[in-house]
Amino acid sequence: AKRAGRGRYRVFEAGMDDLLHKRREMEIDLRRALALKQFELHYQPILDLSNDTVIGFEALLRWKHPVRGNVPPLDFIALAEENGLIVKIGEWVLRTACLEAASWSDGMIVAVNVSPLQFKADTLLETVASALEKSSLSAERLEIEITEGALLDDTDNVLQTLKALRELGVKISMDDFGTGYSSLSYLQKFPFSKIKIDRTFVASANADSEAILRAVAGLGTSLGMAITAEGVETAEQLARIRGERCTHVQGYLTGRPMAPEMISSFLARPKPH
Ligand code: C2E
Ligand code: CA
Ligand code: CA
Ligand code: CA
Repeated sequence: AKRAGRGRYRVFEAGMDDLLHKRREMEIDLRRALALKQFELHYQPILDLSNDTVIGFEALLRWKHPVRGNVPPLDFIALAEENGLIVKIGEWVLRTACLEAASWSDGMIVAVNVSPLQFKADTLLETVASALEKSSLSAERLEIEITEGALLDDTDNVLQTLKALRELGVKISMDDFGTGYSSLSYLQKFPFSKIKIDRTFVASANADSEAILRAVAGLGTSLGMAITAEGVETAEQLARIRGERCTHVQGYLTGRPMAPEMISSFLARPKPH
């Protein structure tokens, strides 16, 4: 038993070493990624369900690593949050998204994900104002997406920043609603103009997730907010959310994230029937 135990321990140790090593390597690479221009934004269309037209796009960060290939955001954003790099990366995202969106047809909005850490850094308002100014994008065309994590602590500070952003004309969306620490009181306390319902509630067709979807859409609607259903992949799911009070849809069915150079042809494509 002892030997088996030691053996297991060694395997575990080697695994940990390997993991720590990979992490350190990734961190070194991440520190250089901005300077080496390895980041790109891809854009996923958001559709208005009342007329099935594209109203804009969500910017999604892509890291093109020379050796690892495309590293998905879920594999590096947590690390960038732990070491604080997310602040610089987030500034790049805001600047780039505003610049790229400024070239889209009139009125198209761009939605940008902002990490809770960017609120803590206290530079968010300045960064947004400067990104808008340098791109000449009008504030009404920018949506900031935040997750519940941003609302948990330092609530007063976050609330002040969100109010100031709203005063600039920027809209705020509550992202991934229904996951994490969702509290219904957030919807009243913070100045959201949109709720994005997480795709877990859209994907599963069971009675519970349908009830949650219906309740959130109903509550959001009565509070005067737009409701986006995220992660719609099938025609059945689309039909289901059309029956609910969702105002917008975003998912692989209506458009995958695409490189910026694909946007104009995507917008010019004939409407599918
Ligand atoms: P999110 O903000 O909830 O973004 C939606 C994610 O769902 C994206 O993954 C998108 O590609 C994916 N998605 C969209 N439609 C579908 C669908 O129909 N089915 C499925 N299975 N997935 C769908 P992605 O691009 O891998 O991003 C993952 C997360 O990384 C984002 O989740 C967001 O939390 C974070 N993220 C992405 N870009 C940024 C950024 O610039 N800054 C920050 N702070 N976070 C970002
Ligand atoms: Ca988002
Ligand atoms: Ca989301
Ligand atoms: Ca998510």
